[in-house]
Amino acid sequence: MPTDYDVIVVGAGPAGSAAAYSLAKTGHHVLMLERGKEPGSKNVYGGRIYPYSLSELIPEFLDDVPIQRHVSKESIMFMTEKSSFQTSFSSNNPTNHGFTAFRSEFDKWLANKAIEAGAELFTEIKVDDLIIADNVVSGIKSGDDEITSKLVIAADGATSILAKQAGLRNDFSPDSFSVGIKEVIELPEHIINDRFGVRDNNGAALVCVGYPTKYVRGGAFIYTNKSSLSLGLVIEGIDLVSHQIQVASLINDFKNHPDILNLIDNGNVIEYSAHLVPKAGYSMLPKLYNNGILVCGDAAGLLLNNGYTFRGVDLAISSGIAAAETFNIANKNNNFSNSTLSMYENFLFKRNVLSDLKKFQKTPKYMKNPRLYSEYPKLICNIFENLYNIDGNQQKLIREIVRQSTKGNISSLQLILDLIRGANAL
Ligand SMILES: Cc1cc2nc3c(=O)[nH]c(=O)nc-3n(C[C@H](O)[C@H](O)[C@H](O)COP(=O)(O)OP(=O)(O)OC[C@H]3O[C@@H](n4cnc5c(N)ncnc54)[C@H](O)[C@@H]3O)c2cc1C
Repeated sequence: MPTDYDVIVVGAGPAGSAAAYSLAKTGHHVLMLERGKEPGSKNVYGGRIYPYSLSELIPEFLDDVPIQRHVSKESIMFMTEKSSFQTSFSSNNPTNHGFTAFRSEFDKWLANKAIEAGAELFTEIKVDDLIIADNVVSGIKSGDDEITSKLVIAADGATSILAKQAGLRNDFSPDSFSVGIKEVIELPEHIINDRFGVRDNNGAALVCVGYPTKYVRGGAFIYTNKSSLSLGLVIEGIDLVSHQIQVASLINDFKNHPDILNLIDNGNVIEYSAHLVPKAGYSMLPKLYNNGILVCGDAAGLLLNNGYTFRGVDLAISSGIAAAETFNIANKNNNFSNSTLSMYENFLFKRNVLSDLKKFQKTPKYMKNPRLYSEYPKLICNIFENLYNIDGNQQKLIREIVRQSTKGNISSLQLILDLIRGANAL
């Protein structure tokens, strides 16, 4: 049966635009639908993109991609209300450590690449439903309009309604998401360079654990842009509710911690946003395909957060490329059935999207351990507090300080078990 388009891509985030670009480049008739005013207008993230998948999609991307800074310095800060302990790593060869970018610029840039390659983009169009008959998806519905295609690619983000309508996932539960909030804080470039110890177009990434989330599961981040900082928090949705934590007070308290205030002092908040983060993990993935439909990026739960790296955009782009690859084979065989589209998983494994999620499949469970966000940050800060506290009493050996700090807080057995579990999960 003739269709209006070869492929309809729903959502012009990184997953959707990567799929649309790959397909349009190979001559297919592609329609992209985005509910936002323009690509990037509704998209929120922390601030860093790992470039390997973008480099596969557009090898010459560095010619014009809107980069803020290349991340050359990575830090982790364990925090209590009154102290902090920070480790830092700097690299002179940070090619694969990612770059910071604004999604409003990056998503627009990537969607424009798809348009230049021949894809059609309509913005401010919300896709409401799928055209489904006999368990076969043959297009989308938006208001009174129906548009048909050989394949629908659902790249509609973390709260994907299309994956649900296609029967690929169950209803969301309060435990399905973490909550992300973010501010962009304007500061002069030279002040950012001085405070973060970077120069030229190099930048820093900082992850903070403990006090920023009031010791419940989650963490805070700061990324440097050219003349602004992206600062925010990601926190477990159910913990917010059960601990009755106010998001606004959380971010304010974080910003007023002396070690954070030193970094952001006199900055001007120019943007505030919030978004849901899918609770991802190999065992939590929805089904990724059905007759006539593939799901990409956050809509498919393709996100990897292991505490020291937060990967969503790179996996979204890889999944868009894999979806396009799957379309090409299905189109050659003129067969968009469940069994042909199951090849999508092979392509996701080939690009290490599913392999990495599988490799880190124990991580989500490990990261649920509340001690990681409470006892350990406090323990680390307490040890260093005592290490440098010379009060005229008999000075203690390090092992005495460690023993004293752990006493009553955490048992040796718990400590050993957490270390073993961490070694297995990370
Ligand atoms: C606080 C926070 C920090 C993060 N930090 C990072 C980070 O530093 N690095 C990183 O790589 N990842 C990070 N992520 C994850 C990253 O944002 C996502 O993984 C990434 O945006 C996924 O891309 P996507 O294209 O799948 O979805 P999205 O970027 O969410 O795009 C989905 C698009 O679909 C559109 N859409 C939705 N429904 C419809 C509909 N019905 N009709 C039409 N259009 C629709 C939306 O408007 C949107 O443009 C972070 C996320 C959050 C919330």
